[in-house]
Amino acid sequence: MPNTNDLVLVTGGGGFIGGALVASFRKQGYRNIRAVDIKPFDHWYQRFDDVENLSLDLNEKLNCEVAARGAKDIYNLAANMGGMGFIEKNKALCMLSVLINTHMLQAAVKHGANRFFYASSACVYNGDRQKSFEAPSLKEEDAYPALAEDGYGWEKLFSERMCRHFREDYGLYTRVARFHNVYGPWGTWFGGREKAPAAISRKVIEAKLAGKHEIEIWGTGHQTRSFMYIDDCLNGIQKIMNSDILEPINLGSSEAVSINQLVDMVEGIAGIRLERKYDLTAPQGVNGRNSDNTLIQKCLGWEPNIPLQTGMEKTYAWIYDQYLAREKGAAGVVREFVTT
Ligand code: NAD
Repeated sequence: MPNTNDLVLVTGGGGFIGGALVASFRKQGYRNIRAVDIKPFDHWYQRFDDVENLSLDLNEKLNCEVAARGAKDIYNLAANMGGMGFIEKNKALCMLSVLINTHMLQAAVKHGANRFFYASSACVYNGDRQKSFEAPSLKEEDAYPALAEDGYGWEKLFSERMCRHFREDYGLYTRVARFHNVYGPWGTWFGGREKAPAAISRKVIEAKLAGKHEIEIWGTGHQTRSFMYIDDCLNGIQKIMNSDILEPINLGSSEAVSINQLVDMVEGIAGIRLERKYDLTAPQGVNGRNSDNTLIQKCLGWEPNIPLQTGMEKTYAWIYDQYLAREKGAAGVVREFVTT
Protein backbone atom coordinates (compact mmCIF):
# COMPACT_ATOMS: atom_id res chain seq x y z
CA MET A 1 0.00 0.00 0.00
CA PRO A 2 1.29 3.49 -0.82
CA ASN A 3 2.51 5.90 1.81
CA THR A 4 0.79 9.29 1.78
CA ASN A 5 4.25 10.94 1.75
CA ASP A 6 5.25 9.19 -1.48
CA LEU A 7 5.20 11.22 -4.67
CA VAL A 8 2.17 10.36 -6.80
CA LEU A 9 2.08 11.42 -10.44
CA VAL A 10 -1.20 11.96 -12.29
CA THR A 11 -0.84 12.59 -16.03
CA GLY A 12 -3.81 14.25 -17.67
CA GLY A 13 -4.18 16.09 -14.34
CA GLY A 14 -5.76 19.06 -16.12
CA GLY A 15 -8.50 16.85 -17.55
CA PHE A 16 -11.74 15.46 -16.17
CA ILE A 17 -10.75 12.18 -14.47
CA GLY A 18 -7.14 13.21 -13.79
CA GLY A 19 -8.27 16.41 -12.07
CA ALA A 20 -10.78 14.48 -9.97
CA LEU A 21 -8.10 11.94 -9.04
CA VAL A 22 -5.76 14.69 -7.87
CA ALA A 23 -8.60 16.17 -5.80
CA SER A 24 -9.29 12.76 -4.30
CA PHE A 25 -5.63 12.15 -3.36
CA ARG A 26 -5.52 15.53 -1.64
CA LYS A 27 -8.62 14.65 0.37
CA GLN A 28 -7.04 11.35 1.36
CA GLY A 29 -4.04 13.21 2.81
CA TYR A 30 -1.44 12.70 0.11
CA ARG A 31 1.13 15.48 0.46
CA ASN A 32 3.29 14.96 -2.61
CA ILE A 33 1.22 15.07 -5.76
CA ARG A 34 2.45 16.01 -9.22
CA ALA A 35 -0.12 16.76 -11.92
CA VAL A 36 0.96 17.04 -15.55
CA ASP A 37 -1.02 18.11 -18.59
CA ILE A 38 -0.28 19.60 -21.99
CA LYS A 39 -2.94 22.29 -21.53
CA PRO A 40 -2.00 25.74 -20.25
CA PHE A 41 -2.89 26.07 -16.57
CA ASP A 42 -5.90 28.31 -17.14
CA HIS A 43 -7.55 25.48 -19.11
CA TRP A 44 -7.26 22.84 -16.36
CA TYR A 45 -10.62 21.78 -14.95
CA GLN A 46 -9.30 21.61 -11.39
CA ARG A 47 -6.01 22.95 -10.14
CA PHE A 48 -4.61 23.11 -6.63
CA ASP A 49 -1.88 25.35 -5.25
CA ASP A 50 -0.48 22.66 -2.96
CA VAL A 51 0.09 20.29 -5.91
CA GLU A 52 3.16 20.44 -8.17
CA ASN A 53 1.50 21.36 -11.47
CA LEU A 54 3.46 21.01 -14.71
CA SER A 55 2.34 21.96 -18.19
CA LEU A 56 4.26 19.53 -20.42
CA ASP A 57 3.72 17.69 -23.70
CA LEU A 58 4.03 14.02 -22.75
CA ASN A 59 4.37 12.96 -26.36
CA GLU A 60 7.99 13.99 -25.79
CA LYS A 61 10.16 11.40 -24.09
CA LEU A 62 12.24 13.93 -22.14
CA ASN A 63 9.10 15.50 -20.70
CA CYS A 64 7.95 12.07 -19.52
CA GLU A 65 11.24 11.75 -17.67
CA VAL A 66 10.73 15.11 -15.98
CA ALA A 67 7.23 13.98 -15.01
CA ALA A 68 8.29 10.55 -13.68
CA ARG A 69 11.37 11.62 -11.72
CA GLY A 70 10.92 10.59 -8.09
CA ALA A 71 7.35 9.35 -8.56
CA LYS A 72 6.45 6.14 -6.72
CA ASP A 73 2.99 5.69 -8.21
CA ILE A 74 2.12 6.80 -11.72
CA TYR A 75 -1.45 7.15 -12.96
CA ASN A 76 -1.33 7.64 -16.71
CA LEU A 77 -4.57 9.31 -17.74
CA ALA A 78 -3.23 11.64 -20.41
CA ALA A 79 -4.64 10.92 -23.87
CA ASN A 80 -6.38 12.59 -26.75
CA MET A 81 -9.91 11.86 -25.87
CA GLY A 82 -13.52 12.78 -26.63
CA GLY A 83 -16.99 11.54 -27.48
CA MET A 84 -17.85 9.82 -30.78
CA GLY A 85 -17.90 13.13 -32.66
CA PHE A 86 -14.26 13.66 -31.72
CA ILE A 87 -12.77 10.17 -32.00
CA GLU A 88 -14.38 9.42 -35.38
CA LYS A 89 -12.80 12.55 -36.87
CA ASN A 90 -9.39 12.42 -35.13
CA LYS A 91 -8.14 8.87 -35.54
CA ALA A 92 -4.49 9.75 -36.15
CA LEU A 93 -4.45 12.15 -33.21
CA CYS A 94 -6.01 9.48 -30.96
CA MET A 95 -3.45 6.90 -32.07
CA LEU A 96 -0.63 9.33 -31.32
CA SER A 97 -1.45 8.92 -27.62
CA VAL A 98 0.64 5.76 -27.98
CA LEU A 99 3.65 8.05 -27.62
CA ILE A 100 2.47 9.19 -24.19
CA ASN A 101 2.01 5.72 -22.75
CA THR A 102 5.16 4.32 -24.35
CA HIS A 103 7.36 7.13 -23.10
CA MET A 104 5.70 7.10 -19.68
CA LEU A 105 6.36 3.36 -19.30
CA GLN A 106 10.00 3.85 -20.28
CA ALA A 107 10.35 6.75 -17.85
CA ALA A 108 8.68 4.71 -15.08
CA VAL A 109 11.26 1.93 -15.49
CA LYS A 110 14.18 4.35 -15.77
CA HIS A 111 13.21 6.27 -12.64
CA GLY A 112 12.26 3.23 -10.57
CA ALA A 113 8.53 3.84 -10.09
CA ASN A 114 6.84 1.29 -7.85
CA ARG A 115 3.53 1.09 -9.71
CA PHE A 116 1.93 2.20 -12.99
CA PHE A 117 -1.79 2.54 -13.77
CA TYR A 118 -3.08 2.83 -17.33
CA ALA A 119 -6.56 4.11 -18.26
CA SER A 120 -7.87 1.95 -21.09
CA SER A 121 -11.36 1.97 -22.53
CA ALA A 122 -14.39 -0.11 -23.51
CA CYS A 123 -13.50 1.03 -27.05
CA VAL A 124 -11.03 -1.88 -27.18
CA TYR A 125 -13.91 -4.36 -27.55
CA ASN A 126 -14.60 -6.21 -30.78
CA GLY A 127 -17.15 -4.23 -32.81
CA ASP A 128 -18.87 -7.40 -34.01
CA ARG A 129 -20.00 -8.07 -30.44
CA GLN A 130 -21.66 -4.65 -30.22
CA LYS A 131 -24.07 -4.79 -33.15
CA SER A 132 -27.19 -5.45 -31.07
CA PHE A 133 -29.17 -2.61 -29.49
CA GLU A 134 -29.86 -4.95 -26.53
CA ALA A 135 -26.81 -3.68 -24.61
CA PRO A 136 -24.56 -6.73 -24.93
CA SER A 137 -22.48 -7.15 -21.76
CA LEU A 138 -18.82 -7.24 -22.67
CA LYS A 139 -16.54 -9.61 -20.82
CA GLU A 140 -12.82 -8.95 -20.71
CA GLU A 141 -12.06 -11.76 -23.21
CA ASP A 142 -14.38 -10.11 -25.78
CA ALA A 143 -11.54 -7.80 -26.81
CA TYR A 144 -10.16 -10.70 -28.87
CA PRO A 145 -10.10 -11.54 -31.73
CA ALA A 146 -9.33 -7.87 -32.04
CA LEU A 147 -11.64 -5.50 -33.89
CA ALA A 148 -11.39 -2.40 -31.73
CA GLU A 149 -12.84 1.06 -32.37
CA ASP A 150 -10.80 2.44 -35.26
CA GLY A 151 -8.05 4.81 -34.08
CA TYR A 152 -8.78 5.44 -30.40
CA GLY A 153 -9.64 1.82 -29.52
CA TRP A 154 -6.66 0.31 -31.32
CA GLU A 155 -4.29 2.65 -29.51
CA LYS A 156 -5.80 1.59 -26.18
CA LEU A 157 -5.51 -2.09 -27.05
CA PHE A 158 -1.86 -1.70 -28.11
CA SER A 159 -1.04 0.29 -24.99
CA GLU A 160 -2.69 -2.34 -22.76
CA ARG A 161 -0.35 -4.90 -24.29
CA MET A 162 2.63 -2.60 -23.85
CA CYS A 163 1.80 -2.43 -20.11
CA ARG A 164 1.65 -6.22 -19.99
CA HIS A 165 5.05 -6.61 -21.65
CA PHE A 166 6.69 -3.99 -19.45
CA ARG A 167 5.44 -6.03 -16.50
CA GLU A 168 6.64 -9.33 -17.93
CA ASP A 169 9.96 -8.15 -19.37
CA TYR A 170 11.03 -5.37 -16.99
CA GLY A 171 9.19 -6.30 -13.79
CA LEU A 172 7.20 -3.04 -13.72
CA TYR A 173 4.02 -3.33 -11.61
CA THR A 174 1.28 -2.36 -14.07
CA ARG A 175 -2.49 -2.30 -13.68
CA VAL A 176 -4.99 -1.56 -16.47
CA ALA A 177 -8.69 -0.66 -16.24
CA ARG A 178 -11.10 -0.43 -19.17
CA PHE A 179 -13.30 2.56 -18.33
CA HIS A 180 -16.87 2.57 -19.66
CA ASN A 181 -18.23 6.12 -20.25
CA VAL A 182 -17.34 8.19 -17.21
CA TYR A 183 -19.42 11.27 -16.41
CA GLY A 184 -19.84 13.85 -13.66
CA PRO A 185 -19.06 17.43 -12.64
CA TRP A 186 -15.77 19.00 -13.79
CA GLY A 187 -15.98 17.16 -17.11
CA THR A 188 -16.09 18.43 -20.67
CA TRP A 189 -19.61 19.70 -21.39
CA PHE A 190 -19.20 21.69 -24.60
CA GLY A 191 -16.72 22.25 -27.42
CA GLY A 192 -16.94 18.94 -29.31
CA ARG A 193 -15.17 16.50 -26.97
CA GLU A 194 -18.11 16.04 -24.57
CA LYS A 195 -19.86 12.68 -24.21
CA ALA A 196 -23.57 11.86 -24.18
CA PRO A 197 -24.47 12.63 -20.51
CA ALA A 198 -22.91 16.10 -20.68
CA ALA A 199 -24.04 16.81 -24.25
CA ILE A 200 -27.66 15.87 -23.49
CA SER A 201 -27.64 17.86 -20.24
CA ARG A 202 -26.34 20.94 -22.09
CA LYS A 203 -28.87 20.57 -24.91
CA VAL A 204 -31.76 20.24 -22.44
CA ILE A 205 -30.54 23.31 -20.53
CA GLU A 206 -30.21 25.28 -23.78
CA ALA A 207 -33.74 24.30 -24.83
CA LYS A 208 -35.17 25.14 -21.42
CA LEU A 209 -33.51 28.54 -21.17
CA ALA A 210 -34.28 29.48 -24.79
CA GLY A 211 -37.90 28.28 -24.53
CA LYS A 212 -37.35 26.30 -27.76
CA HIS A 213 -38.64 22.87 -26.82
CA GLU A 214 -36.61 20.73 -29.21
CA ILE A 215 -33.59 18.50 -28.89
CA GLU A 216 -31.30 17.02 -31.53
CA ILE A 217 -30.23 13.43 -30.87
CA TRP A 218 -27.34 11.73 -32.65
CA GLY A 219 -28.59 8.53 -34.28
CA THR A 220 -31.88 6.75 -33.62
CA GLY A 221 -31.68 7.07 -29.84
CA HIS A 222 -31.87 3.27 -29.58
CA GLN A 223 -28.10 2.90 -29.01
CA THR A 224 -27.42 1.53 -25.53
CA ARG A 225 -24.57 2.35 -23.16
CA SER A 226 -23.75 2.29 -19.48
CA PHE A 227 -22.41 5.36 -17.72
CA MET A 228 -20.20 5.39 -14.63
CA TYR A 229 -20.28 8.27 -12.17
CA ILE A 230 -16.86 9.83 -11.49
CA ASP A 231 -16.81 8.82 -7.77
CA ASP A 232 -17.17 5.14 -8.75
CA CYS A 233 -14.38 5.59 -11.28
CA LEU A 234 -12.00 7.11 -8.70
CA ASN A 235 -12.82 4.39 -6.19
CA GLY A 236 -12.28 1.69 -8.81
CA ILE A 237 -8.94 3.11 -10.01
CA GLN A 238 -7.46 2.86 -6.53
CA LYS A 239 -8.97 -0.56 -5.83
CA ILE A 240 -7.52 -1.91 -9.07
CA MET A 241 -4.13 -0.25 -8.48
CA ASN A 242 -4.00 -1.90 -5.02
CA SER A 243 -5.14 -5.31 -6.29
CA ASP A 244 -3.35 -8.32 -7.74
CA ILE A 245 -5.38 -8.09 -10.98
CA LEU A 246 -2.73 -8.41 -13.69
CA GLU A 247 -4.86 -8.31 -16.84
CA PRO A 248 -7.07 -5.44 -18.09
CA ILE A 249 -10.40 -5.36 -16.28
CA ASN A 250 -13.72 -3.60 -16.88
CA LEU A 251 -14.39 -0.55 -14.75
CA GLY A 252 -17.92 0.49 -15.62
CA SER A 253 -21.51 0.52 -14.51
CA SER A 254 -23.71 -2.39 -15.59
CA GLU A 255 -26.85 -0.18 -15.59
CA ALA A 256 -27.38 0.10 -19.35
CA VAL A 257 -29.81 2.61 -20.86
CA SER A 258 -30.69 3.67 -24.37
CA ILE A 259 -29.89 7.23 -25.40
CA ASN A 260 -33.65 7.87 -25.50
CA GLN A 261 -33.93 6.70 -21.87
CA LEU A 262 -31.06 8.99 -20.93
CA VAL A 263 -32.90 11.90 -22.56
CA ASP A 264 -36.08 10.89 -20.64
CA MET A 265 -34.08 11.00 -17.43
CA VAL A 266 -32.54 14.43 -18.09
CA GLU A 267 -35.93 15.82 -19.14
CA GLY A 268 -37.31 14.53 -15.82
CA ILE A 269 -34.52 16.25 -13.86
CA ALA A 270 -35.09 19.50 -15.80
CA GLY A 271 -38.89 19.25 -15.53
CA ILE A 272 -39.46 19.64 -19.25
CA ARG A 273 -40.48 17.57 -22.30
CA LEU A 274 -38.84 18.19 -25.66
CA GLU A 275 -39.61 17.29 -29.24
CA ARG A 276 -36.86 14.97 -30.49
CA LYS A 277 -35.13 15.41 -33.84
CA TYR A 278 -32.95 12.48 -34.80
CA ASP A 279 -29.80 13.18 -36.83
CA LEU A 280 -29.09 9.86 -38.54
CA THR A 281 -25.95 11.23 -40.21
CA ALA A 282 -24.22 12.12 -36.93
CA PRO A 283 -21.49 9.91 -35.41
CA GLN A 284 -23.09 7.35 -33.09
CA GLY A 285 -20.58 4.56 -32.44
CA VAL A 286 -21.56 0.95 -31.82
CA ASN A 287 -25.23 -0.01 -31.38
CA GLY A 288 -25.02 -1.49 -27.90
CA ARG A 289 -22.50 -1.86 -25.09
CA ASN A 290 -22.61 -2.70 -21.41
CA SER A 291 -20.02 -3.64 -18.82
CA ASP A 292 -20.00 -7.27 -17.68
CA ASN A 293 -18.92 -6.98 -14.06
CA THR A 294 -18.52 -10.67 -13.23
CA LEU A 295 -14.74 -10.42 -13.05
CA ILE A 296 -14.51 -7.23 -10.99
CA GLN A 297 -17.09 -8.64 -8.56
CA LYS A 298 -15.09 -11.85 -8.26
CA CYS A 299 -11.75 -10.05 -7.77
CA LEU A 300 -12.81 -7.10 -5.62
CA GLY A 301 -16.26 -8.01 -4.27
CA TRP A 302 -17.28 -4.59 -5.58
CA GLU A 303 -18.50 -2.91 -8.75
CA PRO A 304 -19.51 0.65 -9.65
CA ASN A 305 -22.91 1.11 -8.10
CA ILE A 306 -23.93 4.78 -8.04
CA PRO A 307 -27.34 4.91 -9.75
CA LEU A 308 -27.44 6.83 -13.03
CA GLN A 309 -30.31 8.98 -11.72
CA THR A 310 -28.23 10.12 -8.71
CA GLY A 311 -25.17 10.89 -10.82
CA MET A 312 -27.13 12.67 -13.53
CA GLU A 313 -28.88 14.93 -11.00
CA LYS A 314 -25.47 16.12 -9.75
CA THR A 315 -24.04 16.44 -13.26
CA TYR A 316 -27.05 18.35 -14.58
CA ALA A 317 -26.91 20.78 -11.64
CA TRP A 318 -23.20 21.42 -12.19
CA ILE A 319 -23.58 21.99 -15.95
CA TYR A 320 -26.56 24.25 -15.30
CA ASP A 321 -24.43 26.46 -13.04
CA GLN A 322 -21.58 26.47 -15.55
CA TYR A 323 -23.97 27.40 -18.32
CA LEU A 324 -25.44 30.31 -16.39
CA ALA A 325 -21.98 31.54 -15.41
CA ARG A 326 -20.95 31.54 -19.04
CA GLU A 327 -24.12 33.32 -20.07
CA LYS A 328 -23.44 35.98 -17.44
CA GLY A 329 -20.41 37.08 -19.37
CA ALA A 330 -17.37 35.02 -18.52
CA ALA A 331 -16.22 34.88 -22.11
CA GLY A 332 -15.43 31.42 -23.39
CA VAL A 333 -14.51 28.63 -21.07
CA VAL A 334 -15.76 28.73 -17.50
CA ARG A 335 -13.47 27.06 -15.00
CA GLU A 336 -12.87 27.35 -11.30
CA PHE A 337 -9.53 27.18 -9.63
CA VAL A 338 -9.26 25.81 -6.19
CA THR A 339 -6.61 27.12 -3.86
CA THR A 340 -5.80 25.91 -0.42
P1 NAD B 1 -9.79 14.46 -20.67
O1 NAD B 1 -9.67 14.81 -22.10
O2 NAD B 1 -10.60 15.35 -19.80
O3 NAD B 1 -8.35 14.31 -20.01
C1 NAD B 1 -7.22 13.86 -20.73
C2 NAD B 1 -6.13 14.90 -20.52
O4 NAD B 1 -4.94 14.46 -21.19
C3 NAD B 1 -6.50 16.26 -21.12
O5 NAD B 1 -6.53 17.26 -20.12
C4 NAD B 1 -5.42 16.51 -22.14
O6 NAD B 1 -5.02 17.86 -22.24
C5 NAD B 1 -4.29 15.63 -21.62
N1 NAD B 1 -3.33 15.33 -22.69
C6 NAD B 1 -3.60 14.99 -23.98
N2 NAD B 1 -2.46 14.89 -24.68
C7 NAD B 1 -1.45 15.17 -23.80
C8 NAD B 1 -0.05 15.25 -23.94
N3 NAD B 1 0.56 15.03 -25.11
N4 NAD B 1 0.68 15.56 -22.86
C9 NAD B 1 0.09 15.82 -21.66
N5 NAD B 1 -1.24 15.78 -21.48
C10 NAD B 1 -2.00 15.44 -22.54
O7 NAD B 1 -10.34 12.96 -20.64
P2 NAD B 1 -10.79 12.06 -19.40
O8 NAD B 1 -12.22 11.75 -19.60
O9 NAD B 1 -10.34 12.67 -18.12
O10 NAD B 1 -9.96 10.74 -19.69
C11 NAD B 1 -8.83 10.33 -18.92
C12 NAD B 1 -8.33 8.99 -19.43
O11 NAD B 1 -9.38 8.02 -19.32
C13 NAD B 1 -7.93 9.00 -20.91
O12 NAD B 1 -6.82 8.16 -21.11
C14 NAD B 1 -9.14 8.42 -21.61
O13 NAD B 1 -8.81 7.82 -22.84
C15 NAD B 1 -9.61 7.40 -20.58
N6 NAD B 1 -11.03 7.07 -20.73
C16 NAD B 1 -11.99 7.98 -20.43
C17 NAD B 1 -13.33 7.65 -20.59
C18 NAD B 1 -14.43 8.62 -20.28
O14 NAD B 1 -15.59 8.26 -20.41
N7 NAD B 1 -14.14 9.84 -19.84
C19 NAD B 1 -13.68 6.38 -21.08
C20 NAD B 1 -12.67 5.48 -21.40
C21 NAD B 1 -11.34 5.82 -21.19
